[in-house]
Amino acid sequence: STEARIIDGKAFAASLRGRIGEQVAGLKTRHGLTPGLAVVLVGEDPASQVYVRSKGKQTLEAGMASFEHRLDASTSQETLLKLVAELNADPAVHGILVQLPLPKQIDAEAVINAIDPAKDVDGFHVINAGRLATGQKSLVPCTPLGCLLLLRDTLGSLSGLEAVVVGRSNIVGKPMAQLLLGDSCTVTIAHSRTKDLPAVCRRADILVAAVGRPEMIRGDWVKPGATVIDVGINRVPGEGDKTRLVGDVAYAEAARVAGAITPVPGGVGPMTIACLLANTLTAACRSAGLPEPE
Ligand code: NDP
Repeated sequence: STEARIIDGKAFAASLRGRIGEQVAGLKTRHGLTPGLAVVLVGEDPASQVYVRSKGKQTLEAGMASFEHRLDASTSQETLLKLVAELNADPAVHGILVQLPLPKQIDAEAVINAIDPAKDVDGFHVINAGRLATGQKSLVPCTPLGCLLLLRDTLGSLSGLEAVVVGRSNIVGKPMAQLLLGDSCTVTIAHSRTKDLPAVCRRADILVAAVGRPEMIRGDWVKPGATVIDVGINRVPGEGDKTRLVGDVAYAEAARVAGAITPVPGGVGPMTIACLLANTLTAACRSAGLPEPE
């Protein structure tokens, strides 16, 4: 058998960002509209700081306005809700993202559901989750949206394919399953209580791993020729005192069996922020009553 095709999420995300940048430039010249994204970070979680920094940087690179709000780790829920209300009312802000996780004195669900659903570019508001589940126009969570774009680019039509999603979180697994169903896959959602997970995975033409367990999915769990999308980002010990990133899939093994596979890093990861920018552009167009971007 031959080695799987590597799905280059880094390159795909770069070209998506390029297209978004062109559309943003067009909005500015033709309609005087500059899409704006507000990102709220509470506390000093190191991974969150990295994400927020690159979100701000890529927002500006796409020609959008970036509004960063950094709040102390001891911030009260009331203060955060007040900021969300201000951003909801601000016409320069088309997208609002509250970086998770939030400190434990804050009820994340209450904060997310306080965001105007039309500005909820993470797609986590219960209204957007419900709209996605019922096939109505919504804002779709960025990571699963990125996975869907990579799958369509790799496979063309997904109609009739067997898809297995491992993981049922509200931010990745569940919306991923909804999107695959929307593209007419036959969808199975597996999780920590699934019996004989290797056998379930071996049914998949499309296998999406969103578990958070380093290299849990082995090569012999993959159906020959399947398309494997690895959402996992796990930091593990590397050479000496270094660390390295691995996915939820044992990449080298799986690449010998799969037809196509995303690497970690450079697969799904870069798609997440590109889709955040796409959602911000979409939200800005909708707010101005303009046609949806492609
Ligand atoms: P969660 O921890 O919220 O969910 C993990 C899911 O995996 C749960 O549904 C859990 O099942 C399931 N699971 C855990 N252990 C097993 C097991 N042994 N067998 C089968 N299923 C299992 O994680 P997220 O969905 O937030 O993230 C998943 C991964 O994706 C993480 O590595 C995260 O870092 C990464 N990620 C990457 C992003 C990107 O930009 N590329 C964005 C978001 C996440 P149960 O419900 O039964 O507990």
